[in-house]
Amino acid sequence: MAFCKKCGTEIADDAVICPGCGASTNKQSSQSSTLKTVAKIFMILSTVFMGFALIPLAWCIPMTVIYCKKVNNNEPVGIGFKICSLLFVSLIAGILMLCDND
Ligand SMILES: [Zn+2]
Repeated sequence: MAFCKKCGTEIADDAVICPGCGASTNKQSSQSSTLKTVAKIFMILSTVFMGFALIPLAWCIPMTVIYCKKVNNNEPVGIGFKICSLLFVSLIAGILMLCDND
């Protein structure tokens, strides 16, 4: 049994508000702060995950641009570039590049 901090009425342990005066007990606020903490953790985790997911764009975009330029100018594409494309950009695109012996 706890007592209301405002009016001193006995209140049940699981009560969220005082039956005497209607003041909220501390239980509700501590519960919502736990939810907020969990939400915060999820926000941070998903932000970190999204950050990792976006990192490949740093090399995927330039490599795609380089490949498009080389194809348009009929320039030979190096074997190293083909293998890097296979490993880091697209497995299928890399295989196609390796099959295309120019
Ligand atoms: Zn009260």
